Amino acid sequence: MSAHDAERMAGLLEREGYAPTDSEAGADLVVINTCSVRERAEEKLFTRLGELEATRTADQPRQVVAVTGCVAQQEGERIRRRSRVVDVVVGTQALRQLPELAARAASRPNSRKPLVDVHPYEDVSFPLGNVRRGDPVKAYVTIIEGCNDFCSYCVVPYTRGHERMRPAADILAEVGEAVASGRREVHLLGQIVNHYQAPDQPGCGFADLVRQVAEVDGLLRLRFASPHPRHVSQDLIRAYAEVPQIARHLHLPVQSGSTRVLETMRRRHTREEYLALVDRVRAAVPDVALSTDMIVGFPGETAEDFEQTLSLVARVRFHSMFSFKYSPRPNTLARKRYADDVSEGEKARRIVALQDLQREIQRDIFERLVGTTVEVLVDGPSRRRPDELAGRTSQNTVVNFAGEPAWVGRLAHVLVERAGPNSLAGRVVDVEAGVPAHAG
Ligand code: SAH
Ligand code: SF4
Repeated sequence: MSAHDAERMAGLLEREGYAPTDSEAGADLVVINTCSVRERAEEKLFTRLGELEATRTADQPRQVVAVTGCVAQQEGERIRRRSRVVDVVVGTQALRQLPELAARAASRPNSRKPLVDVHPYEDVSFPLGNVRRGDPVKAYVTIIEGCNDFCSYCVVPYTRGHERMRPAADILAEVGEAVASGRREVHLLGQIVNHYQAPDQPGCGFADLVRQVAEVDGLLRLRFASPHPRHVSQDLIRAYAEVPQIARHLHLPVQSGSTRVLETMRRRHTREEYLALVDRVRAAVPDVALSTDMIVGFPGETAEDFEQTLSLVARVRFHSMFSFKYSPRPNTLARKRYADDVSEGEKARRIVALQDLQREIQRDIFERLVGTTVEVLVDGPSRRRPDELAGRTSQNTVVNFAGEPAWVGRLAHVLVERAGPNSLAGRVVDVEAGVPAHAG
């Protein structure tokens, strides 16, 4: 979601005549878009500002520095107390004000006070044609902003505001535009993406929206992030079975395998309900890959609670997992109510044990794919070896292979020859004919 906010800001700035540059020193405007979901993410901002301050030379032409996103929203004017270089602070709901504030800051160099806008604007529309998409194949499309769930550890409802739904007509128009410009895969975004209810179409929930989006002519694949287990309806499960455009991947953040911890996290489901959901999904969509998010060391998490997390992971066998050490965040219930009582050493031990288990499961899942042929949508150069290409299967597994740059955006069949810890590697058997139009 933050990456997409950056694409939106880049689009707005471009409209005002800005262009991207590789030279930070020569930039008229530096925008630092921030995340505050864990303390480490937040600290990155101040490291970055420190670097900017250190490299700034006296004879450098006046440069405007803007801080945007969740830390901007959370800290507002206080950011200036920790760094003198900040001229503009723009919150999560005010990103459309960035060009104007940047222009005003440029016209009043050396001002002591930053220009700050952290107003909770309600408007969730975004003018069509204004996103500067960074990816030639995939497009992000926001469907919900904010969150009302207040999981006890989570800062998001405070930094991104209450939940607001975007009209289905806007969403469909943006998907249409993205596909018309050559994008073949769309990612629908929302904090609880499957909580969607169209404000402009009575009775249209998330599953209905997904069906409508899938019908956009030329769309090959549809993904979404992040669904909440509690809102995975039978309707959505049925849509997987019936709509081939929906990628065979479902991210189901569970956070913990212990019902007791889930309760203090305020996730509003039990371990048993989660496992029953996993069984339901797999029965209806046998080729679906599941992934999850886990937090270790939440306040009060005992060794037994953590064992429950390990046993849930062993039982479900996720294709992939994001795991985090609990980090107390400002304003949250967990921070106010519970002491951060699992030691750093213990959190570190638990995350290593969890990741070791996940690695083993993943290796096993990946090794079984060696010798099979998988279908991938070609993404672009491989991260590890830029002379090779990478693509993703419908299950969201990364596959690396040798190929030609012209294949980007096409479907390819790849014979899997090797399995690594996080990706597969193989040889292309055939590639879809025709070159999709990348209109930029
Ligand atoms: N809206 C999404 C998640 C947003 S935050 C959802 O509900 O799934 C992304 C992930 O960061 C969460 O799923 C959680 O695993 C992790 N996270 C959030 N707050 C955290 C905290 N205070 N400490 C550690 N991890 C956290
Ligand atoms: Fe945070 Fe929970 Fe909302 Fe996700 S559902 S954004 S974890 S409060």
